Amino acid sequence: MALEIIEHNLSWNGEPEKRSRTECIVLHHLASEKASLLDVHNRHLSAGWSGIVYHFYIRKDGSIHRGRPEDSIGAHALGYNPCSIGICFEGSFEAEDMTETQKTAGRELISYLVVKYDLRSIFLHSDISPDLCPGANFPFKELTGTP
Ligand SMILES: [Zn+2]
Repeated sequence: MALEIIEHNLSWNGEPEKRSRTECIVLHHLASEKASLLDVHNRHLSAGWSGIVYHFYIRKDGSIHRGRPEDSIGAHALGYNPCSIGICFEGSFEAEDMTETQKTAGRELISYLVVKYDLRSIFLHSDISPDLCPGANFPFKELTGTP
């Protein structure tokens, strides 16, 4: 099955800067129950970023949405933005459990990126920052196939 990425024609407050290296993926949750890609983009614009801080956004229905251009620097993981791709999952996995549909989409996107960039490292946001993101119920092993 081919990976389907839904493209959005987003307006940026300043063009996101190009990223010269891609070494890892950083996984996040939205920390709120429900939002469209555009909701997240507008929220981040209002907060003073150039737009949505993540490269990909996966909704509960399993749809995969493009945020920042894949070759640009995100604003999702302090210290890791110049070398990482950020993926955010709709929901709050402090409290919720991820649906199978969303897990499947996450697995597909992660494995696609791992192969494409020959990546060795997949981090939770909380691995690299004192942050609860992406929540205690986040199914890291199921998404990445790593023990
Ligand atoms: Zn995060």
